[in-house]
Amino acid sequence: MTGHIHSFQSLGTVDGPGVRFVVFLQGCPLRCGCCHNPDTWELQTGKVFSSEQVLEKILRCRDYFGKEGGVTLSGGEPLLQAAFARELFSLCKEAGIHTCLDTSGCIWNQEVASLLKVTDLVLLDIKYTDEEDYRRYVGCSMEQPLRFLAELDKRGIPTTLRQVIIPTLNDTEENILRLKAMGKSHSCVEKTELLPFRKICESKYNSMGIPFPFAQYETPAKEKMNALQDLLGVL
Ligand code: SF4
Repeated sequence: MTGHIHSFQSLGTVDGPGVRFVVFLQGCPLRCGCCHNPDTWELQTGKVFSSEQVLEKILRCRDYFGKEGGVTLSGGEPLLQAAFARELFSLCKEAGIHTCLDTSGCIWNQEVASLLKVTDLVLLDIKYTDEEDYRRYVGCSMEQPLRFLAELDKRGIPTTLRQVIIPTLNDTEENILRLKAMGKSHSCVEKTELLPFRKICESKYNSMGIPFPFAQYETPAKEKMNALQDLLGVL
């Protein structure tokens, strides 16, 4: 089976535990205002690789993975190519490599359910904790990631919730407390991480000739991030 791939990162350290080979899949049905990778949106523009070809690249890096590392599928939205992702993760599992899925959780179907059978860890982006914000700034209902989270919980798949903090949109106490409650009410959630919104992607938007929707928002101050993390209880 083949998949559309945007790019590879051989020694990633921010997308899951340890040192990881990160595969950025092409294609995403959402249009988040804070998106860092608008160049991954269109499925057909990616390069085509077979799962065996990708595995070969992963195996070349496995000596660096150590005890904790492995492979992470990110994007774009990896659930859009769930059948390919499942095949690749199955090959990784056969080779004894830890598998991690970095997703918005916006798609649910039988292929996705099958992908979860070979997924060791999920990094689930909960972009907001409010239905209106999801509709307005993401382009889907909050019901979709919540449904996905419920499925992870049902299967007992270790999950890390992640949220990008965007000043004036979700840097409020109410939002953090709702996020915390979401984590507490799902036993699959092992931790919750807050990430500061950054604008390093602005040049990508410029070169693609499309306006960056969140150009007016600032990167949150370190003190603010610390205060929100304190509230969440992850320090
Ligand atoms: S889900 Fe990810 S790749 Fe898709 S638009 Fe949102 S931030 Fe971008």
